Amino acid sequence: KKLIKILGVSFIDTTLQQLVERLHDSIIHNKKRFVVTANPEIVMNANKDEEYMKDIQKADYVTADGIGIVKAAQLLKTPLPERVSGYEIMLELLKLANQNSYKVYFIGATEDTLHKTIQNVERDYENLEIVGSQNGFFDWSDDQITQKIIKAEPHIVFVALGAPLQEKWISKHIHLFDKGIFIGIGGSFDVIAG
Ligand code: UDP
Repeated sequence: KKLIKILGVSFIDTTLQQLVERLHDSIIHNKKRFVVTANPEIVMNANKDEEYMKDIQKADYVTADGIGIVKAAQLLKTPLPERVSGYEIMLELLKLANQNSYKVYFIGATEDTLHKTIQNVERDYENLEIVGSQNGFFDWSDDQITQKIIKAEPHIVFVALGAPLQEKWISKHIHLFDKGIFIGIGGSFDVIAG
């Protein structure tokens, strides 16, 4: 994979569709993947927070989430094809999960938003399997919560805690899982909940 480096963050040179194909391939082969969709704010924060930079550097794929990143790449004469946002990836992964009856897990947002998100996803994607959910205001050191997620064996874990929390949670817990796509998707549940 070709990488474009901007302020210490290595972005993958990919379109949305190419990335989704790679992620589908990873699911088919039971691979574990960590996806970060980085906007300029995330890049700036990572440059101020060394631990956060390390978390992001652990990601398998960092996509350009924001026209600011696409513009910066262009200025550096290493252009990226398009903006690839967390929300767009989430919609594509939901479609994929629906087509293949994959298991998905939702982590993040308030209980009310989470509930509405699940209702809307169940309505629009009848064939995917929601194997669990957890609101975004929980104690990370609670092993029962972590174990519950691991035991559900999700193919895709959507983590909507906002940046930087979502990347920090994934970075800290992904080693406990055997497989799965882990992606931080910010306020996407708020959008899907309507
Ligand atoms: N959130 C959460 N736990 C927290 C803080 C925030 O689950 O401890 C949720 C919040 O309810 C919202 C999302 O994370 O649904 C943050 O959305 P925002 O648009 O602020 O994130 P960004 O897109 O800027 O990363």
